[in-house]
Amino acid sequence: MYADLKIKRDVYGTEEHQMLRETIREYLKQHVLPYREEWEEQGFCSREAWLKAGELGLLNISLSEAYGGGGLDFSFSALLIEEMSRAFADSPGISMHSDIVGPYIERYGSETLKQKYLPKMATGEAIGSLGMTEPSTGSDVQAIQTNAVDKGDYWLLNGSKTFITIGYTSDFTIVACKTRPNTPQQGISLLVVDADSEGFSKGKPFKKIGLKTSDTCELFFEDVKVPKENILGEEGKGFIYMMTELPRERLTIALQAIGACEGAIEDAIKYTSERTAFGQPVAGFQNTQFKMAEMATKLQIHQVFVDKCTELLADHKLTAEQASMAKFSATDAQFEILDTCLQLHGGYGYIWEYPIARAFADSRVARIYGGTNEIMKVMIARRLFSGYYAQLKAKRKAAMAN
Ligand SMILES: Cc1cc2nc3c(=O)[nH]c(=O)nc-3n(C[C@H](O)[C@H](O)[C@H](O)COP(=O)(O)OP(=O)(O)OC[C@H]3O[C@@H](n4cnc5c(N)ncnc54)[C@H](O)[C@@H]3O)c2cc1C
Repeated sequence: MYADLKIKRDVYGTEEHQMLRETIREYLKQHVLPYREEWEEQGFCSREAWLKAGELGLLNISLSEAYGGGGLDFSFSALLIEEMSRAFADSPGISMHSDIVGPYIERYGSETLKQKYLPKMATGEAIGSLGMTEPSTGSDVQAIQTNAVDKGDYWLLNGSKTFITIGYTSDFTIVACKTRPNTPQQGISLLVVDADSEGFSKGKPFKKIGLKTSDTCELFFEDVKVPKENILGEEGKGFIYMMTELPRERLTIALQAIGACEGAIEDAIKYTSERTAFGQPVAGFQNTQFKMAEMATKLQIHQVFVDKCTELLADHKLTAEQASMAKFSATDAQFEILDTCLQLHGGYGYIWEYPIARAFADSRVARIYGGTNEIMKVMIARRLFSGYYAQLKAKRKAAMAN
């Protein structure tokens, strides 16, 4: 049996982890999966699903109890992310809200901001999104053009963002903007902008090839007056904060990949054992057996590495490069595994009502968002060649001095 083959995962080893797993499965069964088609049609999921998640303690799991969070370590968030993805249903975008947006507020927000947003985020009454990408720039974050001018008692925000996960349903967005234009990274700050602010408007959810129930949209800011106190941390330090937080985001994507592969392999074992061709189950062909053996092995290898990264993040020791390795390698593996599992379904794999079709479509973006896999390799290579880059920098400095 597949379960017997797998190395025991100590990272989720406690009774509390098991209880959480059961709560998530029940939540998905009752409050997410039955509504999936309706949400796909409208392009976003319902507020009720968020409120229910809040009621069951599934939001802000690893944030402080003092602000309504679960007070648990990151391994509990990791379990939630994987379980959702395993059921091919990260529909409500919980990981963006709880594991990306929430930590920004908790780490860099003033006491007033924490009190204002975190308890409501934990109940699902306030949904948060994060806006970095702009129509003209994604990978090159320092080139953003959205700007906020200091007007004494408020920031005057202008610009736009695109591809914002749960941007349409969110009640506030953390917006990366230049507060000191014409200076590169020093000029980026993070502002918390309420969705009902005058001058803040949203596009309709994009029609995407996958992740159809988690909305993605454009956000527009036209002379939005953002209260001065809505800045996260210090003015001009936004780029450093983003670089500090991105490893967590990248690990969440690797975890989604692990969950989706697990679900797809289990599904393919079942499907190929039942489906017959040439008088025998598809599982009886050596090709199927070899493919399944290869996929189970590949997943196992990635799972061990991602588990290690989860432990490192829980101990605040995960480096940007390790997170980049986890993100690009796990999502590349996800792409290959889901494609192979779909192939093993034959024509039915291409039909939307079959879980593998959805999972395949959902998985494609994993190599793009959270920083493309090419950018992950750029980051890893930069560390590998740090000596070379240091020399280059010194040469440039010397040339400028002459
Ligand atoms: C469904 C979805 C959800 C998203 N959610 C969010 C969100 O919530 N918040 C947010 O801020 N953004 C979000 N994004 C945006 C996402 O992070 C960006 O799309 C991604 O970072 C790539 O940026 P880009 O689209 O501008 O591509 P570009 O930067 O234009 O890149 C185009 C191509 O060039 C390659 N490239 C760029 N630079 C280099 C380089 N130095 N070396 C080699 N190749 C390079 C890229 O890898 C890519 O293949 C989301 C995107 C999608 C599709």
